[in-house]
This record gives sequence, structure tokens and C-alpha cells, in this order.
Amino acid sequence: MKTKVDIIIVGSGIAGCALAWQWLLQGKSVLMIADANKGSSAVAAGVYNPTILKRFTSVWKADDQLEVLNDFYPRIESLLSAKFLHPIDILRRFHDEREIKTWIKKSGKEDLKDFMSPEAVTYENQAILAPFDYGKVSGTGWVDTLGYMQLTRDYLQSKSSYRMESFDFKELSHHKDHIVYKDTVAPKIIFAEGFQMLSNPFFKNLPLQGNKGEVFTIKVPDLHLDYIIKSSVFLMPYTDDLFWVGATYNNDDLSDAPTDEAKEFLTSRLERFLKLPYEIVEHNYGIRPTTKDRRPFVGAHQQFKNYLVFNGMGSRAVLMAPWAAQQLFDSIYLNKPLDPEIDIQRCNEES
Ligand SMILES: Cc1cc2nc3c(=O)[nH]c(=O)nc-3n(C[C@H](O)[C@H](O)[C@H](O)COP(=O)(O)OP(=O)(O)OC[C@H]3O[C@@H](n4cnc5c(N)ncnc54)[C@H](O)[C@@H]3O)c2cc1C
Repeated sequence: MKTKVDIIIVGSGIAGCALAWQWLLQGKSVLMIADANKGSSAVAAGVYNPTILKRFTSVWKADDQLEVLNDFYPRIESLLSAKFLHPIDILRRFHDEREIKTWIKKSGKEDLKDFMSPEAVTYENQAILAPFDYGKVSGTGWVDTLGYMQLTRDYLQSKSSYRMESFDFKELSHHKDHIVYKDTVAPKIIFAEGFQMLSNPFFKNLPLQGNKGEVFTIKVPDLHLDYIIKSSVFLMPYTDDLFWVGATYNNDDLSDAPTDEAKEFLTSRLERFLKLPYEIVEHNYGIRPTTKDRRPFVGAHQQFKNYLVFNGMGSRAVLMAPWAAQQLFDSIYLNKPLDPEIDIQRCNEES
């Protein structure tokens, strides 16, 4: 006798967890399968931010995504009696007068005015050098991704809905209205494998690009921060006297090790504004699954309709994944079309 579930999800990173909760919160049953590989979610700081602070523009569909985020994570927190969503404003450190002028101009724009302060703000903190003050961003914060993912896996395990194993494609078969994987039958299976998708025989041709990111966890005993500071790098309060510094972006070097170049970049940028001594406690790295058009890959395989993909969250999985998971759920159960910008159909049209 085979076990029946509503969905099988491969991957337990931020993307896989968002799918699992989307299904669970709608009363559906789930089987999650994930190997022990540390995906990029294991090194993400978990920051969510509806603005792009290099160019002072808004993230695509920022309002919609933020609205889903602010409902999604608190519902899970309440179900698990846990806390992992931490709203906290970001201070964008200005580098010169010209940036201040641009900020003030941009902050009046319709899509930015709810997030960007209308003027430069001062933050009195002796440990941070900021001669040009800051622009304040609201609607931002961070998710303790490690805690969230561990609690999700524990919860699924407690319901016998989690298997730690490497997915075996030889055990998968496609049928007209269902799929079978080993002893389990489900209407559909969703692959949320992050950068490992490139080894998936059904989706490896999607043009997913790797982008390596490196981060530090640093210890600064005398630093107290009420905000996330964003300069050329982020400085984010984590726990006690630990802070997160990141990140680098590298499309070319996807090597499986931390690099001296990234270390030099992070330390030099940090020391431009942090005036206190610090100790590097960890130097981590991961490969972001990115797409050329910065939209995720969501949708069904052209030929094997019950095999689906959920990937390409780039550097914004925390904000993007809950919204995209809702899109996918609604397309399956409510027959709503996926937003064409995330639908992998766009890649088929290109080829
Ligand atoms: C340094 C750095 C900092 C970042 N900071 C942020 C941030 O602050 N905010 C933010 O939103 N994003 C951030 N990101 C981006 C974010 O980490 C990624 O968008 C996100 O992790 C992608 O999640 P994922 O679940 O798609 O992939 P992954 O996290 O890579 O997870 C993939 C999962 O699939 C499993 N898997 C894959 N193939 C198989 C298989 N065949 N069988 C079984 N299991 C399989 C893996 O074990 C893993 O569990 C950062 C990334 C980096 C590198």
C-alpha cells in the first residue's frame, strides 16, 4: 500500500520551507525530502528589504511580497510558538551630499514613499562613522533562517513528513494525474533544490546562474545597534555581541571554499565605518540561485506536467519565497494563472 500526500517537496531551504508552509497552512499534507547538503539558505542573513539600496529603487512587487511576508511568518510563529521574524529598520549610510539629494528626490516616489524617510536622519552611535548621516528604510527586518528552517524540519519530522535522503530520480515515475516516488503517491512533486537544480534531469536546462556570496559573523563586545547599517556592506545585529557582515557577489568564482579576496573586501568595507575592534568568528559562503531577469523559476515541466520547479530566489528568498509559493498554490488549486514574469513558460518561449 502506498502512502498518499498532497505534495512532495524536494529541498528544505528557504524555498522548500515556504512551499511546505503554504501547503500546511491550507490544510494540505506534505512530504519533504532533503539531503544533508548545506544550501545557500544556511548562510543567508535572512534580511528582507523592499528597496534596492544601491540605486534607490523598489523591489519588483515589493508591496505584494511584503504583505504576504507579514502574514506568513507570524502565522507559522504562532503555530510553532516560536519567534524568528525580527522587524528592524535599515539605515542606509550616505557617502556624500549627492547621495542625500538623490535619496530625498527618490523618497517622494509613489512606490518608495512608504519605505524611505523623506530626509536624512541622524543616529548617535559613537561606534559608527557616518559624517553624512543616513536614509532610513522601514518595512524591513530579518528572519532567523537557521531557526526557521530547523523548526520547520522538526515539525515535519514530528508528523512523519520529512525524509533526509538524496532524491533518487530512478524511483520517480510520472502518470497522467499523479506521480509516484518510492512508497508515496502525490498529485505533484515540486523541486526546490537551489543551485543543485543543475543536476536535476528534468530542469537542468533552465538558465539558472550561480552567484557566490561570502559573509562574516563577527564579535564586537561593546557594539549596540538599534538598526541594520547598510553601507557598501550590511552590518546587522544578530545575537548578544554577534553581528553579521555581508555580503559579496561573484558570478565567476563558484569555488567551494571561502576566499581571501572576499575577506579583504568585507574587512576593508566594514572598517570604513566601524570604529571598534572586532573578531571574525565565522567566514561562510554559499551559492545563490539567480536568474538573468531576476525573477524566480516557477511552474510545471512542459512534458511532465506533474513535475514542478520552484527556484531562482536570487538574493531575496526571504521576501520572495512566501509570495511565490502562494502564487504556485493558487495556480494549482484555484486555477489562477501564475504571474507570467515568474512562470518558466517564459524560458520555453525564448528557446
Ligand atoms: C552569503 C549569502 C547571503 C544571503 N543573504 C540573504 C539575505 O539576507 N536575505 C535573503 O532573502 N536571501 C539571502 N541570500 C540568498 C538566499 O540564501 C537564497 O536565495 C536562498 O537560500 C535560496 O534558497 P533555496 O531553498 O532555493 O536553495 P538552498 O538553500 O540551496 O536549498 C536547497 C535545498 O535542496 C536540497 N536538495 C537539492 N537537491 C537535492 C536532492 N537531489 N535531493 C535532496 N535534497 C536536495 C538541499 O539539501 C537544500 O536543502 C543570501 C545568500 C548568500 C550566499
